[in-house]
Amino acid sequence: MRVLVVGAGPAGTRCALRVAGRLPGAEVVLAGAEAALPYDRVALSKYLAGDVAQEALVTHTLADLKAAGVRYRPAMPIASLDLSARAAVTGRGERIDYDRCVLATGSRSFRLPLPGADLPGVIPWRDLAETRQMIGVAREGGPAVVIGGGLLGLETAVGLAARGMKVTVLHAVGWPMERQLDYDAGTLLANRLRARGLTLHMPVETVAIEGTDRVKSVLLKSGERIPARLVVMSVGVRPNTDLARASGLDVGRGIVADGAMRTSDPHVLAIGECAEVGGRTIGLVAPALEQAEIAAATIAGEAAAWAPRADSAALKVSGTRVWSGGEVAPSDAEAVTLRAGESYRRLWWRGERLVGAVLYGDTAEAGFYQNLIASGQPVASRADAALGQAWLKDAA
Ligand SMILES: Cc1cc2nc3c(=O)[nH]c(=O)nc-3n(C[C@H](O)[C@H](O)[C@H](O)COP(=O)(O)OP(=O)(O)OC[C@H]3O[C@@H](n4cnc5c(N)ncnc54)[C@H](O)[C@@H]3O)c2cc1C
Repeated sequence: MRVLVVGAGPAGTRCALRVAGRLPGAEVVLAGAEAALPYDRVALSKYLAGDVAQEALVTHTLADLKAAGVRYRPAMPIASLDLSARAAVTGRGERIDYDRCVLATGSRSFRLPLPGADLPGVIPWRDLAETRQMIGVAREGGPAVVIGGGLLGLETAVGLAARGMKVTVLHAVGWPMERQLDYDAGTLLANRLRARGLTLHMPVETVAIEGTDRVKSVLLKSGERIPARLVVMSVGVRPNTDLARASGLDVGRGIVADGAMRTSDPHVLAIGECAEVGGRTIGLVAPALEQAEIAAATIAGEAAAWAPRADSAALKVSGTRVWSGGEVAPSDAEAVTLRAGESYRRLWWRGERLVGAVLYGDTAEAGFYQNLIASGQPVASRADAALGQAWLKDAA
């Protein structure tokens, strides 16, 4: 069995290792577009902030991969797939035949179609090479602008500030991380970040990025100009589907796959952020790794199916504790709020079932609420649940 995995992000790397583990005689090739060894993309925020060294990002060395039975081909983008011949062609024109191909091409950051968006110094952040580029600019200090005050935008802003830049965040909504936080938690977070020296403009509309040979400023709809030596766009991602689309696979928002991660071609699977299962794409590493396990089982001939679970997210910024899980502020649910000084907790209930939670300041109970949301277990006393696991047990 020859298995080609395209994309050496977390999903592709996990899948290649699991296939090699399950099918010892298989020839497993992991072809990645990036030049680096497989690394922890999630930890790029910590690397940007200077909290971890670059070497600490590497998840598997060449020796690890080889010992596990995986042939790693870095800097080897796959340019095309010939589905009927079951062959891939690399960017250098090399042909790789396969019996099964797993597409794990991930996502790319969306570049807002603004005038000046292509200027040098404007980065839609996603990978290690871009992080190194940002650190290089930050070394010389000066002003930076982050467009987008979502989770990743805030991690970018804090990281660049830690590297000595004067950072302004521009966000289109009135509070940061509006997909994960309600207004009150978002406002607490915004105040905390301002106290740490960040400038946050919200809600604002960015209309252009200005400069000649490189970026100089960002123009807002109000007419205000914010100086910038570096502009990071953090306004969402788009699944990398070009290769799949060009080869004739079914593509919606992502590469269409069934629960066993099989695409419209029986010999090709898709996993991670590039895949669309049941009309849904993912944006977090945990479900990407789950899909990698399912794909490996499918290739090994076992029956397996991926089922989505409630998402949760935590902000990876030292000195802040922010967590959210499930649905945030759904209009048909009732909220229970607990607030003590800087600590804030809001839970959303449909009847006796917890459907969403936001924690700010104290996130020790995140696992408890995540389990309640995922299990759908009925809870008789919302007040007890708001106080936390120990209280709920004592009351029972
Ligand atoms: C800074 C940052 C912080 C994050 N923090 C969190 C977090 O706290 N929690 C969380 O759950 N998620 C976080 N994420 C998201 C998380 O990294 C992704 O969900 C995860 O990486 C998805 O894995 P993937 O393997 O599907 O795709 P990716 O990690 O995007 O990997 C895809 C790989 O495929 C390669 N590729 C693309 N096309 C080709 C081709 N034609 N040929 C060969 N290779 C190709 C790409 O270069 C890339 O290396 C963060 C992301 C970033 C950028």
